[in-house]
Amino acid sequence: MLRFEFDDVRLTVLPTGSLRLDGGAMFGVVPKPLWEREHRADDRNRILLAMNVLLVEDGHRKILIDTGAGEKWDAKQRDIFALRTSPAKDWLQPAGLTPSDIDMVVCSHLHFDHAGGNTVRQDERAAIAAFPNAVYVVQQGELALARSGNERTRASYMPENYEPLVADGRVRLVNGDTALTGAVGLRLAPGHTPHMQVALVRAGGGIFAYLADLVPTASHVRAPYIMGYDLEPMATLATKKALLAEAARNDWRLVFEHDPVLPAGRLVEENGRLKAAAVESE
Ligand SMILES: [Zn+2]
Repeated sequence: MLRFEFDDVRLTVLPTGSLRLDGGAMFGVVPKPLWEREHRADDRNRILLAMNVLLVEDGHRKILIDTGAGEKWDAKQRDIFALRTSPAKDWLQPAGLTPSDIDMVVCSHLHFDHAGGNTVRQDERAAIAAFPNAVYVVQQGELALARSGNERTRASYMPENYEPLVADGRVRLVNGDTALTGAVGLRLAPGHTPHMQVALVRAGGGIFAYLADLVPTASHVRAPYIMGYDLEPMATLATKKALLAEAARNDWRLVFEHDPVLPAGRLVEENGRLKAAAVESE
C-alpha cells in the first residue's frame, strides 16, 4: 500500500488483486522480444497485471477510483484470467475503512477489470452495490457503449457490474470533463474506449493522475506501447502524448492501475525519452 499524506487530502493506492492477460494484446504492435524484457509471459502467453485502485480522502468525502474485478467469477473464468481477487472489506482494511465508508465511486470506464468490484452477489440473488452508501460516477457515453455492445466490445462488459446500480438510482452520469469535488477532477481520455476518463487529484500543491487504461503499466509510457484492446488506438496515441507532456512539465505523480511492480511513478527524461521512475509514500 502506497500512501501520500498532505494537509488537505490523503491518497492511498490499494492493490485489489491481479489477473493475467495475453501479452501480445497488452502491447499491440510491439514485438514480444521487446515487451518480454519487462513482462515475462507464462506458458499461455499471459503476463501478470495488478488492479490498483486509488482512494482519495479530502476530509469531507471518501472517494474510490475504480474497484478492480470483484468477486462474481466462476472457476472457469478465474482460470482463463488467473484471477486473484478478494472482497473490498479485505483490500480496504489496510486503509482502516470498510465498504460502507465510501461516499463516491468513480468508474474510469466499465470494463470488467475496472468495474467488477462495483457490485457483489449475495447468495444466488441479483448483484447489489458493493459500496452501499456510494454514488457511482460514470461517463454517459461509456454507459451507452457498454449497453450497445457489438462483437468486438461485448466481452469486456458485464451488465451486472452497472445495471443494478442504474436501476437503484445510484449512478451519477457525467458528460465530458467534470470538476467532481474541490480536489478531484475528471478528464475525458479517449482511445481505450471513446469515453474513458482519468482522474486528476489536486494534492499538496501538485497533481496525482490516475491514468486507468490510457497508460496501464509504466511500460506503456512509451508512445507506441498501445494495447490491442483499444477501440481507437490513434486516439490513445494523441491523448497519451498530450497528457504525458503535461505530466512531465508539471511533475505530476502518476498511478498505473495495472502495473504489478510500479503502482505509482513520476516522469523522468532519459536519452530524450520519457520514462517512469518509482515514487515512494510521502
Ligand atoms: Zn484494464
